[in-house]
Amino acid sequence: MSDLLITNVRPEDGPAADILISGGRIASIGPGLAAPPGCPVHDGKGAIAIAPLVEPHVHLDKILWGLPWHPINVPAGLRAMIDNEVEIRKSLPWSVEDRAGRLMRQCVAMGSTHIRSHVDISTFYGLDNLHGVLAAWEKMQDAVGLELVAFPQTGMLIDPGCAALMEAALDEGASVVGGIDPGTIDGDPKGHLDTIFGIADRKGAKIDIHLHEPGELGLYEMGLICDRTEALGLQGRVVVSHAFCLGDGPPDKVAAMIDRLAALQVGIISAVPGEIAFPPMFDLAARGVPCALASDSIRDTWNPHGNGDMLDRCWLFAFRSWCRTDAELLACLDLGTARGAALLGLPGYGLAPGCEGSLVLVEGENRAQVLVDRPARALVVKAGRIVAEAGRYAGPGAP
Ligand SMILES: [Zn+2]
Repeated sequence: MSDLLITNVRPEDGPAADILISGGRIASIGPGLAAPPGCPVHDGKGAIAIAPLVEPHVHLDKILWGLPWHPINVPAGLRAMIDNEVEIRKSLPWSVEDRAGRLMRQCVAMGSTHIRSHVDISTFYGLDNLHGVLAAWEKMQDAVGLELVAFPQTGMLIDPGCAALMEAALDEGASVVGGIDPGTIDGDPKGHLDTIFGIADRKGAKIDIHLHEPGELGLYEMGLICDRTEALGLQGRVVVSHAFCLGDGPPDKVAAMIDRLAALQVGIISAVPGEIAFPPMFDLAARGVPCALASDSIRDTWNPHGNGDMLDRCWLFAFRSWCRTDAELLACLDLGTARGAALLGLPGYGLAPGCEGSLVLVEGENRAQVLVDRPARALVVKAGRIVAEAGRYAGPGAP
C-alpha cells in the first residue's frame, strides 16, 4: 500500500488533472494537487488514465508464454486435445512456477492488475499445478490480485479422487470450483453439476464452469446450472465461461435463458473464439447479465495465439462484432475493465476517490482511439505502486 502523486493525466478522456494515491487508495483527483512530504511524483505527460484492465479467465499452468517457440500439433476433438496436453506437459523442461510467473508479468505489463486463473486438478497432477502457480504469485502479490479456480480439465467423475482433490484445493489457496462440459467429458451432466455445487456449498466457494457444449445440449445444461444456483442461493457467485450455446442456440430459448441468467446474476465470460459463435455480449449487458471478455488459452498446447493483453481482446471483440461508433468501442472496453471487475466482484474497483489506487496510463487521443490502436501501456499502478512502465513489467522480481 503505497503513496503516489501522478500529475498531468486525463482521467477517462476528461480534462487534465492530477491523481493522488494515499495508502494504496485514490485520495483525490483534480488539478494542481500538492504532493505530501515524501510522496513520489510521476509526470503523466498528458496520458489518458483508465481503471485497470481485468483478466477473468486464463490458464497460468498451461502457458508456454515467453519460452522458445513450441510447435503444437492440435488433434481433432476435445478429448484428444486434453490427452495431448497431458502428454506434452510430461516432458516440458520448465516448471509451472516459471511459466505462470512469466504470464502474470506479461498480464501486468499490459495493464491487468487482477487475474482469475483456472488450474488443472486431477489424480495425475494432484495439487502440483495449484502449488506452482501460488509459488509464482507469492513473489509478485503486490503487483497483481489472483483468484484460482480448481479446474477438472481431464474429467472429474471419470477420475475417481479428482473431486476430493478439488475440495482440498479450496483449503490450499483456490477459491472457485471449476467444471467442464458435464455431458461430454464426464457423460453425466447432473452428477457432474451436483458434485461441483455440493463442493461450493460446503466450502462457501464460487463456481466457474467451462461450457463449450453447443445449442440445445448447452442450453439444457445451463438450465441445470441455473436450477442449482437458485436452489443453493448462489446468486451472483456462479459464472459460465464460453457459453457457445448462447451464440448458436434457438433464438427463443436463448432469450428465455438470458432472462434467467439476469434474474440469478449468473455471469458469462467469452474469449471471443476464432470460428465458433459466441454469446451476444451486448444483449447480455443490456439485459443485466454480468458479463466480460477474457483471454483464456494463450500460447499453450491448445492454441499458439494470444498475448495476455485485454485491450487486444476487447479490440478483437470489437472487430468481430463490427463495432464502429465511439459508443460501441467504449462498450467493448467496458467488457475488459469495469464489467470484468463487477463480474468478479472486485472491491474498490474504479477511477474515483476512495477506490483502490490502481490505474493504467495510455498515450492517445481518447479511449476509442486507444481501443483501436492499442498503444503500449505507459504506466501501470497497483495500489499506489508502479508495477509496469513503457510496456514492461516493473513490479517485484522485475529483471
Ligand atoms: Zn479456459
